[in-house]
Amino acid sequence: MNSDDYPGNLFVVAAPSGAGKSSLVKALLELDSHPAVSISHTTRKPRGQEQQGREYHFIGEPEFRAKIAAGDFFEWAEVHGNLYGTSREAIEARIAGGQDVVLEIDWQGAVQIKKLFPHAVLIFILPPSWEELRQRLMRRGEDGAEVIEQRMVNAREEVAQARHFDFVIINALFETALFDLKTVVHSQRLKYAAQRRNKSQVFAALDLI
Ligand code: 5GP
Repeated sequence: MNSDDYPGNLFVVAAPSGAGKSSLVKALLELDSHPAVSISHTTRKPRGQEQQGREYHFIGEPEFRAKIAAGDFFEWAEVHGNLYGTSREAIEARIAGGQDVVLEIDWQGAVQIKKLFPHAVLIFILPPSWEELRQRLMRRGEDGAEVIEQRMVNAREEVAQARHFDFVIINALFETALFDLKTVVHSQRLKYAAQRRNKSQVFAALDLI
């Protein structure tokens, strides 16, 4: 695949649990020219208010394995004992049609995507400190002490992978982190090839095409 076949941008956002990834991506999706979000498939059970087809497509493991065998996933990974995958269909058609797509997936998925699609823009969200991450997980009030400690252990493993990413955003202050995220998204849209495609009249008037 190359970027000419796929004029849309593919943004991949990863972070440890509690770093604020979902809130940042949600705010990004409220932009006028927001990217489309891809809904993953997972074998994990829905939590709280989650709805089928909104947060995830919730499916059973046999169905998930059948999709792997059929090559339906662009990438998939096991995260904390459950399987998660991004359907090929959900992203290829969109980026081929010039739409930007954002994926909220774990680092293993991000690394797979980068190999398949080197133009993907990998963004890692970091908490400002371990202590702040623990405080945020505690403030969420969703989990007991044991689960929080397990999330902290997982977070250390996840954060150790940040070096594979193109951009790092430190979510100390939400508004600043959101500005940073928007800046990364916007900057891709200013690349020469993108501007030439999207502003072809200006380019033509300037004899650039
Ligand atoms: P949760 O179960 O808390 O919603 O997600 C657990 C982890 O799985 C998060 O890091 C989330 O980003 C990641 N995840 C969600 N969807 C996918 C996917 O399609 N592929 C991969 N590789 N990871 C995913």
